[in-house]
Amino acid sequence: MAQATPEMIDDILAQTYPDAHCELDFTNALELLVATVLSAQCTDARVNLTTPALFAKYPDARAFAQADITELEELVRPTGFFRNKAAAIKGIGMALLEEHDGEVPRTLAELVALPGVGRKTANVVLGTAFGIPGITVDTHVGRVVRRLGWTSATDPVKVEFELMDLFDEERWIMLNHHLIFHGRRCCFARKPLCEQCPLARYCPSYPTGEPPAAPNARRRKRAAH
Ligand code: SF4
Repeated sequence: MAQATPEMIDDILAQTYPDAHCELDFTNALELLVATVLSAQCTDARVNLTTPALFAKYPDARAFAQADITELEELVRPTGFFRNKAAAIKGIGMALLEEHDGEVPRTLAELVALPGVGRKTANVVLGTAFGIPGITVDTHVGRVVRRLGWTSATDPVKVEFELMDLFDEERWIMLNHHLIFHGRRCCFARKPLCEQCPLARYCPSYPTGEPPAAPNARRRKRAAH
């Protein structure tokens, strides 16, 4: 297996997926926040079919806060877990209205305090809506980085911190998109396309997708403060 630094791997992915981006449709931070909540256990494509009618009916935090919960449930039903998601979205509308003047806050701490919003959702919003660096560890990111041998952790928060340690902050947002694109288009959970993979010669999981027993990426030393 040839050796490559994590930055070299990210560069290859950047060349492979020059249009990598968030695949949820949105026009503002609130729409992205709601779409990301709906994307739990659901494909982005299905969320994108659901959100146009939702955003037309509820254009701002006040509208979500005042929504009739039964009507809201019906609109988000196609995304699954619709009762929980509707309750979270209405709760987000109420919290934004009461605590943030109807605006989506720009810090991780404030975002994760909103109903139904975890670190993953918060980092999507920070990175994609506001350009504030963060790393979102979803199922694709976790799988790909374990296969690349950058971590053996399965806890998403642990993986998030290990990736933050491996990469400089300015890479975080696009690294995220590159890894998700690669997981969706090549490094599938079942039957990854290892023979067609641009990372094959550097990947310790080639040719089966079976991750190595121990991570092989050297941890970057944090700069002393
Ligand atoms: S070689 Fe296979 S396991 Fe490794 S990144 Fe490519 S598709 Fe994934």
